[in-house]
Amino acid sequence: MIAVESYVQGGWHRPDTGASILHAVTGDELATISSSGIDMAAAVAYGREVGGPALRDMTFHDRAAMLRNLGKLLLSNTDHLYELSTATGATRSDSWIDIEGGAGVLMTYASKGRRELPNAKVFIDGDTEGLSRDGSFLGVHIATPRRGVAVHINAFNFPCWGMLEKLAPTLLAGMPAIVKPASQTAFLTEVMVRDIIESGLLPEGSLQLISGSAGDLLSHLDGQDAVAFTGSADTARKLKAHPTIVDHSVRFNAEADSLNAAILGEAAGPGTAEFALFADEVVKEMTTKAGQKCTSIRRVIVPQEVAGAVEEAIAERLRSVRAGDPADKSTGMGPLASIAQRDEVKRAVAALSEVGEPVIDLCEFHDVDAERGAFMAPTLMRATDPRARAVHSVEAFGPVATVIGYEGTADAVELAALGEGSLVASVFTPDGDEAAALTLGIAAHHGRVHVVDERCGRSSTGHGSPLPQLVHGGPGRAGGGEELGGIRSVMHYMQRTAVQGSPDMLTAITGKWIEGSRRNDHGHPFKLHFEDLQIGDAVETPSRVITIEDIERFADLTGDYFYAHMDEEAAKASPIFDGRVAHGYFVVAAAAGLFVWPDPGPVLANYGLDNLRFATPTYPGAELKVYLTCKEKSLRSGAGYGEVRWDTQVVNQDDDVVAAYDVLTMVACRDTGPDT
Ligand code: NAP
Repeated sequence: MIAVESYVQGGWHRPDTGASILHAVTGDELATISSSGIDMAAAVAYGREVGGPALRDMTFHDRAAMLRNLGKLLLSNTDHLYELSTATGATRSDSWIDIEGGAGVLMTYASKGRRELPNAKVFIDGDTEGLSRDGSFLGVHIATPRRGVAVHINAFNFPCWGMLEKLAPTLLAGMPAIVKPASQTAFLTEVMVRDIIESGLLPEGSLQLISGSAGDLLSHLDGQDAVAFTGSADTARKLKAHPTIVDHSVRFNAEADSLNAAILGEAAGPGTAEFALFADEVVKEMTTKAGQKCTSIRRVIVPQEVAGAVEEAIAERLRSVRAGDPADKSTGMGPLASIAQRDEVKRAVAALSEVGEPVIDLCEFHDVDAERGAFMAPTLMRATDPRARAVHSVEAFGPVATVIGYEGTADAVELAALGEGSLVASVFTPDGDEAAALTLGIAAHHGRVHVVDERCGRSSTGHGSPLPQLVHGGPGRAGGGEELGGIRSVMHYMQRTAVQGSPDMLTAITGKWIEGSRRNDHGHPFKLHFEDLQIGDAVETPSRVITIEDIERFADLTGDYFYAHMDEEAAKASPIFDGRVAHGYFVVAAAAGLFVWPDPGPVLANYGLDNLRFATPTYPGAELKVYLTCKEKSLRSGAGYGEVRWDTQVVNQDDDVVAAYDVLTMVACRDTGPDT
């Protein structure tokens, strides 16, 4: 018998007694769970006072490296998790989504953090805003980690993934977490948390675990804390209205249940590839995790005239699903997580039966006592009234879906909207116009729309898989929240602050050179190693006159004979130019000729340009010079170099900006780079 423990204030808390958790397959008592005796106020204080400062002391890149190491650790040590996971009813492939899929989220955030966030402690959100005529007063938005704890309350269906998908953006943001998994499957979460804690990869206090009831945890939160909830709409409603959440404006995100739809387009009739893909996907969604996914397809919305053919295709596939013991590798569908959960699903099916009739609701279970375990046959219903309220509102959180007929695209869109907000809908059609009409028609009611045609049928990641790169969440019934979506969710755990001041002050605060700030002359900055280079180090180059011969030679060299460079009359006749102009690319190339330091030195390579704009035409006779300023530095730890972004302004003899852009370079560190 397992006593599920909690990890709080740096130690494991083992309850003497607790509520029973039954094995999903055998129905035997497996574990006990209780959070009694835990001082929730102290856990919150510990997260704030121990975990928070340690995380905030790290840069985004430090935290990304930590996530990467954690992901690698979890991926290298999974056997015990897979074995235990069968007790939740999960088959091998269900567990893969939960365990390795969860570790994969850490890896994705690690890589996004390294590529999309600076190696700094502050994130600059968007562009600088000019607030005065002379450029002496500006505004910028920054994001810094919230100074509280993130409380994660998770649903029972993904005990590992559910924790990790919230943990990755929280830790990357620099906020400590208190994880409260659903009691039914917390025994698996506990084992993974133990692996994480024992690895020593996370700073102490950055992860705590409450197994069992949340008790008075929420009462100790304040405006610096955040709650991310996943579970039923009923619980979400209750927690959102908690007096502490309301009184202190605690940031609250809800991922609740929803009746997700799959819509078969009229162009995807029987015999098309999309029709077969549709039937496959519905069956996959009904049977993966025995349909216990918040994203599972519940409503199968199909043209009325092919409803019979769709039912037949789905039923035929369901008949070949092997249901039984999840520990057997040939099993395609295991039991639900608990008998209580099965009872709840059966109640939901009874409600759906009042507005529909079963197409198929029988199956053979292999090598198990289906009554003692939480087994349930996949159940496909047919709605007798497509607009009946229950069809669009009763979530049977199991292997259950309902076929609903529609008459024309507008009707399909209306039917999808009757779900009052869902996490995801799929659209299957080979016709682009139909895909556009359906997608744009339903998008406002959905957090994600998954469009499938023959081309992506096999490469699609599937209707039911939330991806770390894309937002997960939906409006209305789905909770109105948003998770994942790459760096978007990191921002949920940070505070966005508008900061106003002079360019020099904003540069000092953000660590990034803001236009209008002082430029420093310490000699040519290309001669400085990464550590010696300061933000604001700059060079003002000598000037160069652009001649008609330059333009013609550049045209010959590149083959770019665009009229504006070669034909005086045509150029004059255009609404843009007063005569022949230099190629913009020549201006950029000539600028490089002015600012590069030719000898081998710390600048190893130029790997791109960002935000290139040609602001003023360059006519023959123009005299150009360049201001090149070190704008942003980001050390690539362990690589021997850092990335340096240079603000580049090419100006003419009247000081008009001709071209503006950022040059991106790799600059060697002192001990590894070549000597200057
Ligand atoms: P649930 O009963 O709402 O429970 C969700 C979580 O809330 C559990 O950890 C539960 O803890 C906790 N909880 C319940 N009452 C609480 C309270 N008063 N204070 C603090 N925490 C409380 O949902 P579930 O049965 O675990 O999950 C199934 C539902 O979740 C389905 O409806 C499904 O659609 C939805 N879901 C949604 C998503 C999504 O991303 N949108 C993902 C998965 C599941 P205990 O277990 O200890 O009671």
